[in-house]
Amino acid sequence: MNAEQVIAAKFGGSSLADAKQFRKVKEIVESDPGRRYVVPSAPGKRFEGDEKVTDLLYEYYAQLSRGEDGADTQKKIRARYQEIIDELGLSVSLEKEFERIEYAFSKGAGEAYAASRGEYLCGLLLADYLGYEFVDAAEVVRFGQDGHFEDERTNFFLKGRLARAQRAVVPGFYGADDAGEIHTFTRGGSDVTGALVARAVQADRYENWTDVSGFLLADPAIVKDPKKIDAMTFAELRELSYRGAAVLHEDAVYPARREGIPIHIRNTNHPDETGTLICRKLEPEQEVSITGIAGRKSFAAISIAKNRMNAQIDFCHRLLEAFDENHITFEHMPSGIDTISVILPLEEYREKQEAITASLQRLLHPDKISVDEDMALVTVVGKGMRSESGIAARFFGSLGEAKVNIKMIDMGSNEINCTIGVSNGDFETAIRALYQALVL
Ligand code: ASP
Repeated sequence: MNAEQVIAAKFGGSSLADAKQFRKVKEIVESDPGRRYVVPSAPGKRFEGDEKVTDLLYEYYAQLSRGEDGADTQKKIRARYQEIIDELGLSVSLEKEFERIEYAFSKGAGEAYAASRGEYLCGLLLADYLGYEFVDAAEVVRFGQDGHFEDERTNFFLKGRLARAQRAVVPGFYGADDAGEIHTFTRGGSDVTGALVARAVQADRYENWTDVSGFLLADPAIVKDPKKIDAMTFAELRELSYRGAAVLHEDAVYPARREGIPIHIRNTNHPDETGTLICRKLEPEQEVSITGIAGRKSFAAISIAKNRMNAQIDFCHRLLEAFDENHITFEHMPSGIDTISVILPLEEYREKQEAITASLQRLLHPDKISVDEDMALVTVVGKGMRSESGIAARFFGSLGEAKVNIKMIDMGSNEINCTIGVSNGDFETAIRALYQALVL
């Protein structure tokens, strides 16, 4: 590999769950001198049914808040780190750190502080083990006092700090505000820190090391042994993640996408495997016609009918206003000549049902409003959806053969995806039929 390249490598919780995993991480980091910036999560599960350190920390915090002493949980957390220190023969001691944490708790440090200690302590150990400098995320990842993430300031601080560090470990998941209070991203947020570090050092690549070999073409809980996605574009990733294919934290994509830094998903337990590469543009030999199939259940379709709707100039404007004033973002809006449907998550619809209906009545005076509360959305993503003939025939033919009734079709003219709405009960059948017809 090219030693000139700069790589930011984020390792997930299962990649750092114990000493054995730490060894694998070190081997990976040392196998390419470009891996100069490393972002760890907190130690995750070592085996099925095990506990993640972050979950233990949340629990510990909850116990203390209830006035319990939480001694057992604290013991478990300490033991996780001590085991790693002992087995790797590290010289660091976390005694002082734990004292500091205790003290912070006694002074009323918040839940985010508690949760962040998982990454913080893991980062201290990893930096020591790798011989890298430790850069506390609280110094460089900036939040406002109300908890919102400050993107530009973070980039400024991270850039400046990492320019002075040849090789560094920056713990994921948290940052701090100007008063020193700790804040975290949402769960899985070390992915975000990894992307921020990659951007700050203008990395050639952002490697995201996890316990799967990349994105799969379909959910393995639905399709047996689905193929792996070797490469895809950021736009395709966005479509698939939005529809439920989860490997990366959503907010991790933007910083990398904006800078055009490729994200490479790799498997810590199988570093020889090629993983999934996500970049702005694929090379012709990387392109495939179908990139992936994903979906989600439980949507509602609100259909509004009004005679001569198409002739009424501000109809759509007022329709959007009805959703806007109820603070609702929707998924799709397929339309006919005198009907238009708006598809949104069922839960949200149920929560705001009365208010939406009232707004639609007031703003649109429709002839009829009907609601279908049994809809699942399935999206097929890939360049073939736009540029290959015959795909649509296979697409719809396969669903017909599987006796899946299609309730809605949405495909823009310049899109890399086609979304259909089916009954929740047909969801799995539809995905299997599409996989069979389009991929195999
Ligand atoms: N440790 C945090 C969590 O469990 C963040 C992360 O792993 O990315 O959500």
